[in-house]
Amino acid sequence: EVLHTIWPGEFVDSPEFRATRIHPRQPFQVMGFEVDTINSVQFSNHTGNCRAVLGSARRVPDSTIAANTRAKGATEPCYKHWRGHVLKSDELCELYEGLRLNGITDYDYVLTGYTADRSFLERLVGIIKDLKQGNPQMVYVCDPVLGDTWDGKGSMYVPEDLLPVYRDLVLPMADVITPNQFEAELLTGRTFSTQSEAIEVMECLHARGPHTVLITSADVDGARKNDRLVVFGSRNQPGRRRERIRMEMPRISAVFVGTGDLFAAMLLAWLHRHPHDFKLACEKAVSAIQHVLHRTFHCARELAGHEKPNSAELELRMIQSKKDIEDPQVTLHASSL
Ligand code: ADP
Ligand code: PLP
Ligand code: ZN
Repeated sequence: EVLHTIWPGEFVDSPEFRATRIHPRQPFQVMGFEVDTINSVQFSNHTGNCRAVLGSARRVPDSTIAANTRAKGATEPCYKHWRGHVLKSDELCELYEGLRLNGITDYDYVLTGYTADRSFLERLVGIIKDLKQGNPQMVYVCDPVLGDTWDGKGSMYVPEDLLPVYRDLVLPMADVITPNQFEAELLTGRTFSTQSEAIEVMECLHARGPHTVLITSADVDGARKNDRLVVFGSRNQPGRRRERIRMEMPRISAVFVGTGDLFAAMLLAWLHRHPHDFKLACEKAVSAIQHVLHRTFHCARELAGHEKPNSAELELRMIQSKKDIEDPQVTLHASSL
């Protein structure tokens, strides 16, 4: 089984943003997918936890930096430096033109991740429209990366003018989306703190386009204060019965980077493998991530001794988790809603 996936990865255009050392293509290849990648950035290391250090370069309000700094454990575990560069929107179009001229744009899936530039995102919408025109069966999986919640307070880490583009142009094109709670709330203009409100928000998201919605991490009914996190999923495909699931898991006491990327990749892959079993696809995707995170956490703690693990020690153990990615034991079960 060979699929092509074009993954524009993490789109960034200013120095405050991070990249992962884990290449998003790895989990796909492990699962037998053939992948064409467009690297939107080429960085030496992840810049996510450099927020405190890069504070002065950021366009976001100081309160956001303060919140991030607290949540990420002050200045310590973080990379202090990074180097690299960012693909411009013209360069994206140039690469796409190369694919088009050779007639090699018959992708089964497109997966997009982080972008911090409005014109880049608008160009991307054009490319996806073009790809869908060429292949109406093509599935577009979108991780609408907009922001996150720290200490119970949400904040955006991309420019605000991206929100209307995601909501009005990207969502109508997307088949599958993987927002976190804060992103789902931004996209619908509705907050939620209970399961039934979460279901309403997923309904609003379906109404905007995507037939499959996964809320990758949510705090409902006080889950967060019990150190738990909740995943919700909803599938509403024409001609199929409506399905909703909920998964709940303990929160590991570390801040990982790249987990949202891994979630989107694993979900795409397992939805492909189990097109008629939404619940199982979600269970395998989330269980695989949990295996990777538990392995990463244990290795990091061993390396760190009595210290708090730093960023380098917390890099996801992808290679060591190859077997768990290929064939994850389902350790987390979903309940149907
Ligand atoms: P997003 O980046 O979209 O906010 P997260 O990175 O918070 O999403 O979570 C994606 C998935 O990674 C979650 O569904 C969960 O399975 C896993 N995950 C991330 N952080 C943790 C953690 N600290 N403990 C347990 N699981 C986690
Ligand atoms: N913030 C920044 C600056 C990023 O570069 C990314 C990358 O995708 C994200 C957030 C989202 O990461 P995740 O969804 O894995 O938490
Ligand atoms: Zn995310």
